[in-house]
Amino acid sequence: MTGSADSRSPRAPRDILAELIRIPSVNPMGRDMTGPETLETRVTAWLMEYFQELGVPAEAIEVAPGRCNVLARYEGSGSGPVVLMDAHQDTVPVDGMTVSPFDPVIEGDRMYGRGSCDVKGGMAAMLAAFARLVREQPAGAATVVMSCTADEESTVMGVSDLARLWTDPARAGSLVTTPPDIALVAEPTDLDIVVAHRGATRWKIRTTGRACHSSRPDEGVNAIYNMAPIISALQKYASQLQSESAAHPLCGPPTLSVGRIEGGVSVNTVPDFCTVEIDRRVIPGEDGLAVMEAVETYLRKQVDVDFEMLPPWITGCSLSDDNNGRWSDLLLEQITPVAGEHRKMGVAYGTNASRIAETGVPAMVFGPGSINQAHTKDEWISLTELDQASEVYYRFCVAAGSV
Ligand SMILES: [Zn+2]
Repeated sequence: MTGSADSRSPRAPRDILAELIRIPSVNPMGRDMTGPETLETRVTAWLMEYFQELGVPAEAIEVAPGRCNVLARYEGSGSGPVVLMDAHQDTVPVDGMTVSPFDPVIEGDRMYGRGSCDVKGGMAAMLAAFARLVREQPAGAATVVMSCTADEESTVMGVSDLARLWTDPARAGSLVTTPPDIALVAEPTDLDIVVAHRGATRWKIRTTGRACHSSRPDEGVNAIYNMAPIISALQKYASQLQSESAAHPLCGPPTLSVGRIEGGVSVNTVPDFCTVEIDRRVIPGEDGLAVMEAVETYLRKQVDVDFEMLPPWITGCSLSDDNNGRWSDLLLEQITPVAGEHRKMGVAYGTNASRIAETGVPAMVFGPGSINQAHTKDEWISLTELDQASEVYYRFCVAAGSV
């Protein structure tokens, strides 16, 4: 898009989405990546311009070098609830994509491109609904804070920082003065409402050894051999965990998976280190740190090799349906006339909603597109759902004002 278009004319969700896809915001996700396609910097600048054109107060808050949350506030007419609408700015990397990641293409009802589904689509639908509130000033609408958070796909530092605005008095700013009454988080839910989901604790286990030349392996200690019984024990633990734990009615059972292994430097050297990366999904009611301790206790009993538990880089936090009931009822009432019958559900993946709910703010997840298309090599979104989601966000913000 160039400046030639009338910046005050309402932009359709699909036009906003096309612009967002053209601005790469790839999350390195712990890999050594640099360059213009990485991080949220350029999307942040675009968002600030978008909100400034709307004439609403907006702020970019840096959460790490070059990485900002963007906040904007629409002041509703009454003293009613404050709705937080959140969508993350980052996308996963583009390796192996079979469609052009940053050149949005429309085919039939689909728009292709990285982030189309997760979650620039949801963000575009929210931005269009937010702009419509500003433009139409509907009577009785809620006050709406729109947050566009950084780094959802990796360490969730964006939403963690966002929550500090209402949990840490020293951080209270002009746009967020009190905890929101309800948070609506955009992720691809196929226009269903996710009221509960699991969270993930991820950490490494490390074994160490003593390196030596592989022609005389008996002179060293092989860290990979030391890891072998740990992996076998973890496999057994994972199987028991899944089959023997009480499952959450909406989220299913807790799970554990070993997703990555690293060790050694070359085939002719006895390895002096080995690490495995563990993904432990927690269900509502489980503590993200206690689950690690349980794994350690189990392993210490099961194996007789020494190992080290490294600190988690993400601590599992699930979303419970305990306190979002009336809000999800209200949201469902807005969905039906726009998109037909939909439902409340629980899912296995995690979202920003759990970090917000952790602070006592009811939260739920709703957005266009299917999780099956998120992170895929030919990522796309349905344009019909995109428009429907925007309409639902708008109606919800209006209806929430009278709660
Ligand atoms: Zn997402």
